[in-house]
Amino acid sequence: MRLIFHGAVRTVTGSLHIVEAGGALVYLDCGLFQGAREAALAWNRRLPTPARDVDAVILSHAHLDHCGNLPTLVAGGFRGPIYCTPATRDLTALVLRDAAKVARHDVAIVNRLRRRQGLPAAEPLYGVRDVERTLARLCAVPYGRTFRVGPGAARFVDAGHILGSASVVFEAGGRRLGFTGDLGRPGTAIIRDPDVLPAVDLLVTESTYGDRDHESREHAIDRLASVVGETVARGGRVLIPAFAVGRTQELAYALRALREAGRVPEVPVYVDSPMATDATAIFRRHPEGFGGEARTVLRRRDPFGFRGLRYVRTARESRALVARDEPCVVIATSGMAESGRILAHLERYVGDPRSTLLFVGYQAEHTLGRRLLDGAPEVRIYGEPHHVAIRIARVDAFSAHADRRELLAWIRRIPEVGRAFCVHGDEEPARALARALTGARIPAAVPVVGQGEAV
Ligand SMILES: [Zn+2]
Repeated sequence: MRLIFHGAVRTVTGSLHIVEAGGALVYLDCGLFQGAREAALAWNRRLPTPARDVDAVILSHAHLDHCGNLPTLVAGGFRGPIYCTPATRDLTALVLRDAAKVARHDVAIVNRLRRRQGLPAAEPLYGVRDVERTLARLCAVPYGRTFRVGPGAARFVDAGHILGSASVVFEAGGRRLGFTGDLGRPGTAIIRDPDVLPAVDLLVTESTYGDRDHESREHAIDRLASVVGETVARGGRVLIPAFAVGRTQELAYALRALREAGRVPEVPVYVDSPMATDATAIFRRHPEGFGGEARTVLRRRDPFGFRGLRYVRTARESRALVARDEPCVVIATSGMAESGRILAHLERYVGDPRSTLLFVGYQAEHTLGRRLLDGAPEVRIYGEPHHVAIRIARVDAFSAHADRRELLAWIRRIPEVGRAFCVHGDEEPARALARALTGARIPAAVPVVGQGEAV
């Protein structure tokens, strides 16, 4: 068996690795590479192998950077199965349909500009039809059940990252490969803790936070409460950019608990994202993925709803919310403030010293979120410069990714790891995790794009 690293190598986006075993070609993930427009488009269009040569895809979870380039593969002629867990199948439908919509919207804006410059119209990466044909290829397999892939056998292990997320165990020719996918944290409110992998000859591990430890969840909840309290006291609003799938539900859950305990003022909380609204409905349909606390709450009532929480669906409602001058909490996509409705909120409130922009997730390099987090005095939103006066706060404990300590602890529980490769992390965190693993007597390295390794 041979493994070739292709995407999410020395970066956190575009997850894709290739497994060759007994003449079969299998993709682990087929994620969208997100970054500077032209470069990202070129990267996403150019798959590492002809699409027709791929026999199957094993998908770790429904985040766009793991599933978002599947329609390109299908449009290119891929006709095999895409294996994933049942909850991932439902969430992937939501994520890919939204991606097609966003692509159409983006290309329309680009084409207005191109027309003015006399250039031919650009095409979106893929359309709704490619997405529907992709969804028809999704094959749901529950955690723990072995399925045949070419000459090999695979199974999913709960990765505890988002609903339906999985680590992958792949065996062929007497050798075993482990792929973490994105690894979650133990002790979160909704999702079950990550399960442990069996002994593997080669481990491909994510390393998003390979050089950092998160604060404790209790501390994070305290900070969330004080950020909301202080901002409301100033008459401002708390803006929280968040991924529609996973983090938004964690936040809704935490705010509900704080409200019930009387620890935050009774101001309205808005989830301004139709996708987050739909994702929350899918969460409600898959309680099998919930851990202890959410499971108990679910028996009594809706863990994601409370009086004062509004899910904002239409664009008109969203515009009204931006214009309304009232203290409130707004959770909106996207998580790194690169696109989505959070931009309209930022356009209006980035210059408002009463308000707070609260980051709850990883902000990749070269994103608007990262620039604001790094303290830029001025930023561009929709192409216009804006002076930054909004207060910036950050709480990492709502992260859906294990931190350095948790990654190491989880990997140490694997009975045996022959060697490891750190992917899905920027250069520094990936190197830091590789050093720590090597120090723990697991030889580890950070691969380069296109690097092949015998398993
Ligand atoms: Zn993820």
